[in-house]
Parts: sequence; C-alpha cells; structure tokens
Amino acid sequence: MNGIVVVGTGQAGFQLGASLRENGYAGPVTLVGDEPGLPYGRPPLSKAYLLGKTDAAGLALRPDAYFAEHRLTIRAGERAVAIDRAARRLLLASGEALAYDHLVLATGSRNRPLPVPGADLAGVHQLRTLADADALKAALAEARAVAVVGAGFIGLEFAAICAQKGCPVTVIEGLDRPLARSVSPAMAALIETSHVRAGTRFLFGRAVSGLIGPDRVRAVALAEGHEVAADLVLVGIGILPNDDLARAAGLRVENGVAVDAMLATEDAAISAIGDCASVPSPHAGGARVRIESVQNAVDGARCVAARLAGRPAAFTAVPWFWSDQGPLKLQIAGLCQPHDRAVRRGDPESGSVSVFCYRAGRLAGVESLNRPADHMIARRLLQTGRSPTPEQAADPGFDLKALALG
Ligand code: FAD
Repeated sequence: MNGIVVVGTGQAGFQLGASLRENGYAGPVTLVGDEPGLPYGRPPLSKAYLLGKTDAAGLALRPDAYFAEHRLTIRAGERAVAIDRAARRLLLASGEALAYDHLVLATGSRNRPLPVPGADLAGVHQLRTLADADALKAALAEARAVAVVGAGFIGLEFAAICAQKGCPVTVIEGLDRPLARSVSPAMAALIETSHVRAGTRFLFGRAVSGLIGPDRVRAVALAEGHEVAADLVLVGIGILPNDDLARAAGLRVENGVAVDAMLATEDAAISAIGDCASVPSPHAGGARVRIESVQNAVDGARCVAARLAGRPAAFTAVPWFWSDQGPLKLQIAGLCQPHDRAVRRGDPESGSVSVFCYRAGRLAGVESLNRPADHMIARRLLQTGRSPTPEQAADPGFDLKALALG
C-alpha cells in the first residue's frame, strides 16, 4: 500500500491529513510542502502576528508531537515538480519519486505580481507566507509612510495595522471602492468610512504605473502623473491558483484545478482542495467557484478525507469567511456576488450592521459587520435553504433565529 500523498502543507493539506486519521484511515499519509517547517495558519499573518500579539509558535496548526502521534509524515522544504499519472508517482525537485494510491493537490495560491517597472525594488512587499510577514513586520517598524496597492482584504487589514501603529498609510485602488469584487457597495461604504476615520487615505480609480527608486522605493507613480511618497509599499492585488502541476499532468484547469462535486479530478486517483481548486458549487447555482478561505480549505479537506475513508458525499458546505480590520470584524456567509437586491439590518451608525444579499428572490449571502449573531444565523439559514423575505430580513422585530432553527 502506497497510501495517500498530499502536495501542500498549508491549511487544506494539514486538514486532509488530520481528517483522514479522524475518519479511521490507517494507511500511510505523506504531506509534501515547499515551505520550511510544520503547517501554520495564515490569517494571523495580516493581523495578530504583525501587531506582535502572537509569535510563530502561536501560528502552528498543531504542536510538533501531533504529527508523529498521528503518523503524518511531513516532507517540509520539498517541492513537487511533476505527476506521473500512469505510474501514480509524484516527482520531487530532489529527484525522489513518491508512489501514491491517491494524490491530493492542496497547493494553494500565490500572489499576483504587479506588472509595472520597479515592482522588485527594496521596500516593496507582498504577504502570503510567514517569511513575507517577517520581512513586512521589520519594514513596518522602520517605515515613515506606507502605500498599499489594492483595497482587498489583505491590503485593508494591513492598512488598519498601519493606522493602529500611527504610520501614515495611503491605499491605492483601481476600482471605485474597497473590496469591490467581494462585498456589496453598501458594506464597502461602511468599511471605507471606518478606515478613513482611523486616518487611512484612499485613492480610488487610480492605476499604478510604476514604483520609483532608484534602489529602494521612495514613491508610487500613478498613471495620470501624480506620485504618492512611500518608503514601504505592500502590493495586495489578489492571488493566482497554483495549478501548474495539474496542468502539466494533463488535468483540466479552469481558474484552478477543475474538480467535480466530490472534489475529484477527471483522474480518479487525484483530488484537489482549498485555494487551488475550482469547484461546481450548489451555492452558486452549480457554477464553478474558486474560494480563498480557511473554511473552504478545511471543509474541502474533510469532504475528501471522508470519501477516501469510504464515506463519499458531495461538497455542499456553506462558504463563510472573516476579516479583521482594526475595530471591524467582517463576516460573510454564503456567496453574495453577484446579487440583485440588498437590504440592511441594524443601524450603520452603531457600527453593527448586516447586509442581506439576494439573487433571484432568494437569500444568497449575508455580510455582517460586528454582528456575529447574524452571521451564525445566516449560516444556518443558508444551510437549511430557508430564505427570509427582504422585508423580514430588514425588520429588526422579525425573529430570524426562529426561522433559521425552523
Ligand atoms: P495554502 O495555505 O496556501 O497552502 C498551500 C501550500 O502548498 C503552501 O505552503 C505552498 O507553498 C505549497 N505548495 C504549492 N505548490 C507546491 C509544490 N509544487 N510542492 C510543494 N508545496 C507546494 N482566510 C480566511 O478565511 N480568513 C482570513 O482572515 C484570512 N486571512 C488571511 C491572511 C493572509 C495574510 C493570507 C495570505 C491568507 C488569509 N486567508 C484568510 C486565506 C487562507 O489563509 C487561505 O484560503 C488558506 O490558507 C488556503 O489553504 P490552502 O491549503 O489551500 O493553501
């Protein structure tokens, strides 16, 4: 028996190993990861870790002893370079080949590069790994003015930290609002207001044409000629799925490794989970989605582990996500985009509000700001398929919890 080989020791790869053992799988499990060290969680990298509220040990997904106790072999610092599907072998950069009965691709994603001159200057950072966070943290301690390119989750979380540390920060975004692809315009407006109150400056609708050095960055050049002075620049313009191994092995790739409702590729011996997987989702009317979240990585891993342990079931978990930005705790349940109607529950002035997003008359997702009870109710509503009317959702007197619990 060759057992199960996993490419990736991130959130999804780790969970796959852990869930295989929870499901009673007794065969060999090997996780190959190109980062050094044992599996760790990324969310604190743009939050508590940068603030110095947790250290590297605090990021660990399990203590060191867990892996030996559960017979999970971690091959850290090893890169997988090819899949020999005919022979069912994974080839490593070292030249070694690992035979598998089943291969799980949990390769995650990488930062989208900023395609302008100067993007490789000293002082220009991205944030994906612990090593990135260490470099960014050291740079922030010395920085006098920060520019963030991209008003996505990572950019906004970092901007909130700069503001908390009293460092002037400008967020430059090509679209007309923050989180334009991720949240409703109503929620984006609330988030923008909070950041502005904390001292963050936004420049919307601006394209970055270059980063100006000569050796270290000193400014960000905008397409219309304006410059934003900065000695630290964080580029946070999204991520790309690590699907090259799958593509080179002849597997279907469609904005990520294409899998079916069971998270299996067209090769019955290969599955894909987490950020790298493109999945037909019942929460998107069966359309393919590629979700970048801890929940998606964890629940996808649980789904595949159950199947490999003999209990197959489709992946139907309700997507959910969170982002902490200074005083804001944003939580999203379901897939809100696209939606054709949105109603608010709660008073925006109170700082605690939810936006209920509807698609074709049914609840598609709920964005909650500092309103965790709504978030939990929303997950339950979406799981059970119970959809309040927009009027009910907007009515503070309507008992959503009772509806959710049926
Ligand atoms: P990853 O965790 O990226 O793991 C993939 C691993 O595979 C990596 O270590 C990679 O180096 C390795 N790998 C890739 N190719 C190979 C290869 N060929 N050979 C060997 N190894 C390989 N999500 C939330 O829900 N809430 C949050 O608040 C949140 N905050 C975040 C903050 C930051 C700074 C970042 C970067 C992400 C955040 N996320 C958050 C997203 C979340 O962390 C990811 O969705 C999750 O890590 C995805 O897990 P994964 O296992 O698919 O990928």
